[in-house]
Amino acid sequence: YILYPGLTKFPAILGHEFSGEIVEIGPGPEGEQFKVGDRVTAEEMVWCGHCRACRDGFPNHCANLEEIGFTIDGAMAEYIVVQAKLCWSIDSIFERYPDEETAWNVAATTEPTCVAYNGIFERAGGFRPGAYVVVYGAGPIGLGAIQLSKASGAAKVIAFEVSAPRRELAKKVGAEAVYNPIEVSPSEVVMDLTGGAGADLSVEAAGAPDKTIPEMEKTLAINGKIAQIGRAATRVPMYLENFQVRRGQLFGAQGHSGHAIFPSVIRMMGSGLIDNSKIITSTFPLAQALDALEKATKREDGKIVIKP
Ligand SMILES: [Zn+2]
Repeated sequence: YILYPGLTKFPAILGHEFSGEIVEIGPGPEGEQFKVGDRVTAEEMVWCGHCRACRDGFPNHCANLEEIGFTIDGAMAEYIVVQAKLCWSIDSIFERYPDEETAWNVAATTEPTCVAYNGIFERAGGFRPGAYVVVYGAGPIGLGAIQLSKASGAAKVIAFEVSAPRRELAKKVGAEAVYNPIEVSPSEVVMDLTGGAGADLSVEAAGAPDKTIPEMEKTLAINGKIAQIGRAATRVPMYLENFQVRRGQLFGAQGHSGHAIFPSVIRMMGSGLIDNSKIITSTFPLAQALDALEKATKREDGKIVIKP
């Protein structure tokens, strides 16, 4: 995330995808919906609620945004102070997973799945059941996109991922076809597997749009959509003629807040429509957080969980 072109400020404790138990509630009416002992996860984007974007209903574009684990202290710690307005109950996840350890871990993966949800459904407007969906990148957000697409009735989900262990995870969470984009021509594969129809929705979750968008552009179904979720400070060559001829649309997506995204994803986890226990590949104690970060740079894990 040090390469991430979004907001960052140092020094800040890292960690923006987390779950925990409430041990203390501050004064004021905001916290009244919670009590000590409640189990919650939290949004990472600290939207202000009073700027123009927030008042217009777009908290992901807050003018006064702070980000937990990026601009203010995050969750690689035993305790963290979080505004009540950002917290969501994860009781339904505990009902789904009788093993508490698994439930805590799964709940900590809510955030990246919400980022995928925001891109696919809130920003791009989703797709009709029976659609062909292509996901570029099978990190935590891409794996979320695959599961959300399967759960929402995609007829086929095709995924591209350079890391072999992550390709296995993509299959495990439901992608029908998974390829290394270095070994194949993604656009040829997509046109072949869709019988020439192309992708109704392509999801950029690789953070390599200079490489992926040109492939997506060649595979737009009529009315095809592209959701740009991965972050990359790079320019992208685009041939807009394809967007005109194919009636294509590209949607820029940022964030995960608002629009009932967190409660909807938590419901999907609670009902078993999404099973993020499949993508958790390692756990480390907090004292070994540096080892966990080093392992993460290898990009072979789905999700690494750090336990205080
Ligand atoms: Zn705001």
